[in-house]
Amino acid sequence: MADTLSYPQAVTYNRHIVLPQIDLEGQEALLNARVLIIGIGGLGCPAAQLLCSSGTGQLTLVDDDKVEASNLPRQLLFSRAQVGQFKVHAARDRLHELNPDCRIRTVNTRLDDEALRQAVSEHDLVLDCTDNPASRQQINAICYAQQRPLVSGAAIRFEGQLLMVDPLNHSPCYQCITRLFSEQELSCVEAGIFAPVVATIGTQQAHIALLWLMGKQVLPAGRLLTYDGLSLSWQQFTVPADPQCTVCQSIKTNK
Ligand SMILES: [Zn+2]
Repeated sequence: MADTLSYPQAVTYNRHIVLPQIDLEGQEALLNARVLIIGIGGLGCPAAQLLCSSGTGQLTLVDDDKVEASNLPRQLLFSRAQVGQFKVHAARDRLHELNPDCRIRTVNTRLDDEALRQAVSEHDLVLDCTDNPASRQQINAICYAQQRPLVSGAAIRFEGQLLMVDPLNHSPCYQCITRLFSEQELSCVEAGIFAPVVATIGTQQAHIALLWLMGKQVLPAGRLLTYDGLSLSWQQFTVPADPQCTVCQSIKTNK
């Protein structure tokens, strides 16, 4: 049976509930939602913080890294005293202070295909907050195969991008856009990253995810949203499905 909001929870989330686009129904949908966040770095920290503080029922955090001093400018869940701790544990402790009602699970290992398939199947929505192309392709393929929506974010230097992949509506997928951008460009952490840019993209991942879980889709699946942090400008592109895509096209033709 679905959980309903307690009186203290209704008080906490009042500013959402008074919005007619959300209402009690949207907030209760969020209370019953399970979200898998892969990567608790510059994208995952703001995304997890907003999903937790906004009243998501369950979050699973996956990351095998430990907190380093160079993370602190943009990974605002972590304090200097937590350097050396696993990121998922440091994040869980901070998130628990924000919202003790949120059930938080942590995984401090990199998931192989089998483990990731299992994890994805146990959640309603997946956020890809990783920073390497191999993980992005793995998450995209498994979300498509498991028919779970995916909110993908990426940021480098002063640039960011967002993509929602919705296998249930046969949208183009992350692999379809990699032929438009060099994967090295998407993944090169060594090139530097301006802290507010990655925080903006992580925040937008939470924005898209929260509204999707509440029944509103603000970024149409298969539409690529890019952000230029030097001109503060956003652009949207409709991503054509790659007819040769081995992820989304093979699933379609198998149906
Ligand atoms: Zn595809």
